[in-house]
Amino acid sequence: MARPLHVYLHVPFCARKCPYCHFYNLGHDDAREAVWLDGLAREIAAVREAGGFEGCRLATLYWGGGTPSLLSPEGFERAADLVLGIAPRSDRLEWTLELNPSDATPTRLAVWRERGVDRLSVGAQSFDARRLEFLGRTHGAETAARAVRDAAAAGFDNISLDLIFNLEIPDVAPAERRRAWTRDLASAFDLPISHLSLYGLTIEPGTAFEARSRAGDRLTVPDAAYAAEFRAACRAARSAGFEHYEVSSFALPGRRSRHNTACWTGAPYVGLGPAAHSFDGVRRWANVSSLTGWAEALATGGDPRAFVELLSPSQREIETLYLELRRAEGVERGHPLLGGAAEPIVRGLVGEGVLVERDGRVACSERGFLLLDEILERVTAAAGAVGVAMHPAAWPGTEGRDSFDNVLGRR
Ligand code: SF4
Repeated sequence: MARPLHVYLHVPFCARKCPYCHFYNLGHDDAREAVWLDGLAREIAAVREAGGFEGCRLATLYWGGGTPSLLSPEGFERAADLVLGIAPRSDRLEWTLELNPSDATPTRLAVWRERGVDRLSVGAQSFDARRLEFLGRTHGAETAARAVRDAAAAGFDNISLDLIFNLEIPDVAPAERRRAWTRDLASAFDLPISHLSLYGLTIEPGTAFEARSRAGDRLTVPDAAYAAEFRAACRAARSAGFEHYEVSSFALPGRRSRHNTACWTGAPYVGLGPAAHSFDGVRRWANVSSLTGWAEALATGGDPRAFVELLSPSQREIETLYLELRRAEGVERGHPLLGGAAEPIVRGLVGEGVLVERDGRVACSERGFLLLDEILERVTAAAGAVGVAMHPAAWPGTEGRDSFDNVLGRR
């Protein structure tokens, strides 16, 4: 039986660097696109030679970045040829493409649809001119709504939208901020979307926002307002019939991201492109965050990876706990890190209503999702497992790469 293959493709180009973004990207031009495409061809050939695609069927493709919708039509076609040539497709291939709203032209939408993209992830972030300006986005307030409607008209019936909260905009009073967030949520659920990815702004090292923050600007809201905005989003999603299936993800029934769910449940995935991460079930690695460094390594028979890490059994246990507690289904009650010294902690958290026990599993309540970092810290500290895990908010290969950390990044 063929093994399901999950592929993340990093397209490292952006029209402009957003002031909050810490992901690897650079400006787009034809020469850079050609370097990226040649590197991609070489990387696929190298993985194939190493047996990385043997016995596989493509189950999910996720094109993120960066801004995959910036690729030229020819670049998109060549990349599609390369990636679709990796392995036979499964009958239910899910192919997601991240999209900047300004790029949703009828021609591009038709090309993507024709080629087999069946899921779009639209980087709306907001429908409010002031919030978009604060975030340094290149699209206007109407553009994202138009992009979603045009995509639906072009035949896309599986559209995800990104929205950002936790924005403290100078000179915007709290009451107006609340109204703007409520309007953003209403606008989002008024559109023909099937999925919402919610992000709470975090100030990341090396970003323009970090410089502003250091200079004294407060760019994120107080904790109580953060919780109120998060819960307002949960309520709005519920009213629209969306299930809250992961800490920062909401979907209509049957419309969960299959790619992300595979990554969150420990399935191996292959990352292609500069800065892309991969996981084979035992080891994880990341390519260098440099287009030229990655391409040159591949062209000269070198290793394009920045690091390879072999996970010990205890690291795997911690990661399973971290990843599964993000999901509505939670983690098995019998998970090794929930027993022993952590047992009374878990019982206490259930008593406090931040964790819920059902069907032999332990999951976060809505309030628990807001406290997820703290829950994980308390449980792993009690189990003596602190300091071993990588923070999963930074996990690669999953939706949300287009912005920054999700609600889990909140401290
Ligand atoms: S947030 Fe998205 S569009 Fe903005 S610079 Fe980062 S990857 Fe590019």
